[in-house]
Amino acid sequence: MSFFTKTEEPFIIAGPCSAETHEQVFETAQALKTLSVKLFRAGVWKPRTKPGSFEGNGIDALEWLLDMRQEFQLPFTVEVAEPKHVEAALKYGVDVLWLGARTTVNPFQVQQIADALKGSKVPVMVKNPVNPDVDLWEGAIERIERAGVGEVAAIHRGFSTYQTSSIYRNQPNWSIPIELKRRRQDLFIICDPSHISGNRTLVKDIAQKAMALCFDGLMIETHPQPEKAWTDAAQQITPQTLKEILCELVIRKHVVENGIHGAQIENLRQQMDSIDAEIIYLLGRRMDFSDQMGLLKKEQNMTVYSPERWREIVETRSEQAMKQQLSPEFILSLYEKIHHESIQRQLKQLEQGEKN
Ligand code: PEP
Ligand code: MN
Repeated sequence: MSFFTKTEEPFIIAGPCSAETHEQVFETAQALKTLSVKLFRAGVWKPRTKPGSFEGNGIDALEWLLDMRQEFQLPFTVEVAEPKHVEAALKYGVDVLWLGARTTVNPFQVQQIADALKGSKVPVMVKNPVNPDVDLWEGAIERIERAGVGEVAAIHRGFSTYQTSSIYRNQPNWSIPIELKRRRQDLFIICDPSHISGNRTLVKDIAQKAMALCFDGLMIETHPQPEKAWTDAAQQITPQTLKEILCELVIRKHVVENGIHGAQIENLRQQMDSIDAEIIYLLGRRMDFSDQMGLLKKEQNMTVYSPERWREIVETRSEQAMKQQLSPEFILSLYEKIHHESIQRQLKQLEQGEKN
């Protein structure tokens, strides 16, 4: 059986952050069974920031999940973080495993898990690492794939930050899952709005955004009494709220249809294509000037980087951006790249001169 098949409907994974008691697992599953949930999630080994917090019910919880599957015919998934978790999960016939963000971040740990998975066909989902590093995420996926498991999917759960002012618990940094999908177009990517938000009031909007960004599914933490949850109480929602979110979710197609709207989209794309061609041509011209500048600076024995000039660029371009209703942060990030490239070009001129 293939778990991760792309369909028009998003693949829904739901269930509590942690399997707390037999009753809680059953109560959640009973409610989720009536929704379009394909896979029940529950943590049985919990990675906690501080020692002394509840760290999961381990094997006891696996027993409850087996009972739950028997009763409700719902396949289930648990997080594994060590080879001994993998062994236990495989022994108990867990349907799908997932690697958490704090595991994906460590290639040694991922490799040990991959080694423990060898010979098994269980599907595995790999959450992004806690830090915003697409290569590390892709590398973890490759390690698991090389173990020969049946199927591998990715879960986007956002990235840690020290930014205390953010509304998110973990920054979505959408460009990272988008880049992963560009590299691996057949990869099944699921969004986890619960861990991105850290707050149940934001779950719906993030889920909706994920649909607009072509994600294949959603993993949403669901608990019969979220405010009493033993872990992640602020972000869990009731099965009833999940039902409402799923009913209201606007599912978007990513292929252009024929007809009038298709033609309008095509027309806009053509206009964007020609503007992009102009932007690239202009960037080429700008870099020609950088080369000339590099030669001049060399002759004049000047430094390539000038803090005053960079300050002036940031100020003027931000003002120009605002006049065009563009966000100054966007223009600043673009200019950081342009300026960096310009400096590299000038350094090259200097080095070439030095070699001659
Ligand atoms: C979880 O899914 O409950 C969990 C611990 O997630 P993450 O690895 O994304 O923090
Ligand atoms: Mn959680």
